Amino acid sequence: MLPTFTLRYVRLPAHFYERFVPVPVASPQLVAFNRPLAEELGFDLDAYDAALATQVFSGNRVPDGAEPLAMAYAGHQFGNFVPRLGDGRAVLLGEVTDRQGRLRDIQLKGGGRTPFSRGGDGRAPLGPVLREYLVSEAMHAMAIPTTRALAAVTTGERVVRRIPEPGAVLTRVAASHIRVGTFQYFAGRGDIDGLRALADHVIERHYPQLQPELADTEHLNRPEGERYLALLEAVQARQAALIARWMGVGFIHGVMNTDNMSVSGETLDFGPCAFMEAYDPRTVFSSIDEGGRYAYGNQPGIGQWNLARLAETLLPLIDADQEQAIARATQVIETYPGRFEAEKLAVMRAKLGLTGEEAGDGELVDSLLEAMQAGRADFTLTFRQLGDVAASAEAEPVLLELFERSEPIQAWLARWRERLAREAAEPDEIARRMRAANPRYIPRNHRVQEALTAADDGDLGPFETLREVLSRPFDEQPGREEYALPAAPSEQVLRTFC
Ligand code: AMP
Ligand code: MG
Ligand code: MG
Repeated sequence: MLPTFTLRYVRLPAHFYERFVPVPVASPQLVAFNRPLAEELGFDLDAYDAALATQVFSGNRVPDGAEPLAMAYAGHQFGNFVPRLGDGRAVLLGEVTDRQGRLRDIQLKGGGRTPFSRGGDGRAPLGPVLREYLVSEAMHAMAIPTTRALAAVTTGERVVRRIPEPGAVLTRVAASHIRVGTFQYFAGRGDIDGLRALADHVIERHYPQLQPELADTEHLNRPEGERYLALLEAVQARQAALIARWMGVGFIHGVMNTDNMSVSGETLDFGPCAFMEAYDPRTVFSSIDEGGRYAYGNQPGIGQWNLARLAETLLPLIDADQEQAIARATQVIETYPGRFEAEKLAVMRAKLGLTGEEAGDGELVDSLLEAMQAGRADFTLTFRQLGDVAASAEAEPVLLELFERSEPIQAWLARWRERLAREAAEPDEIARRMRAANPRYIPRNHRVQEALTAADDGDLGPFETLREVLSRPFDEQPGREEYALPAAPSEQVLRTFC
């Protein structure tokens, strides 16, 4: 049933990780298994064996050929550098080569106390495991780069957070779990050889176009340092694109520490993440983000801050002359705002049904957001409803109901209509495009919370239903209308925990 492990990270120098076998759990039960993803990864589902799956995804049995390990990394947590974090509860079983030939990490989250656990128990509560399952799969369904959820298992043990909760293990799949913080780990120790080995591994794995043997001759003639500068630029490009996509669906990561920023450009580590309802760039849900450092509107800037930390680690590889290296890396980092704005504008144009590009489009987007903020309008439903308005003016009253103050949005609609008139497409075509760019169903906080609370009480029904709804975020789903609605005042969940 299981695919063959490829084993790549474990072949890197031994100080990149600690070998670690997951600590068995008392009484594992498989509560979720992602068959389409398993298929993609090369599992043989005709030979599916539920007992084996339960054993493997709980960590009770190490699959043949796997050499499990905990990865070493550092990171800035809320701006403070911690030189040694590492996988305190995650265990990398190894990599598999998926059906498209891509290397994918298979990691158990909640696998027991590792050499990096510090004061932690190495375990994960069921709630956060199911939150990550739901939200990461929803991100994938919205075509946003993300780690995936392959399985969730309850352990039959309790983990104590604010109160005792059921324990669980999540099996997570990633292009890799290499983070900005992984680079910081080696840079922090002054380990230049380790840094170079890591950078070369990341280039081979995520940015093969930068490999010397694949590069054009012009590239070959350049000094080696150019390759690492190009790596910085490539990671920056993917992160700018990723964060723009987050902004386009109202996603708030919640803990954008450098150890939670993937160098492959996937959304990584779904802790106290949540989706914004009424548009307000200051929105924060995470219970641990007291200063609002990781508020919705701060995410693009934090992206740049984290990339600057990555740049610092690469300086010794970029140029022996450190002043030169700083100047070159700074030049790259300074292009981030322009790149991010271009990515965001592309996302927003698609959301507004625009394929052509006009100079006033950015301002048109900004004034819509201002109208939404003034009217406390639901971010997701506003864009979805605009698609209906594009098809027919009769849909306008339903849109206006989303706004507490309707004058600004009415004025804006007139401008948008003028702009749409200059698009080549027919209204129905514009509406169709908009429905494909604007989800109807997102993981709304109160729905997620409801599913997690029920699961804690042993009822997985709401989790199953929500998972099914979120797997088709752009489709109208008759009978599921309530899942599209924002929380009523009495249902609002304003704090999320990890
Ligand atoms: P996170 O906030 O999930 O990104 O984790 C930050 C750091 O804390 C990482 O090094 C984690 O491995 C570690 N950590 C989080 N929860 C636990 C836990 N329950 N036991 C041990 N380490 C943990
Ligand atoms: Mg983390
Ligand atoms: Mg974590």
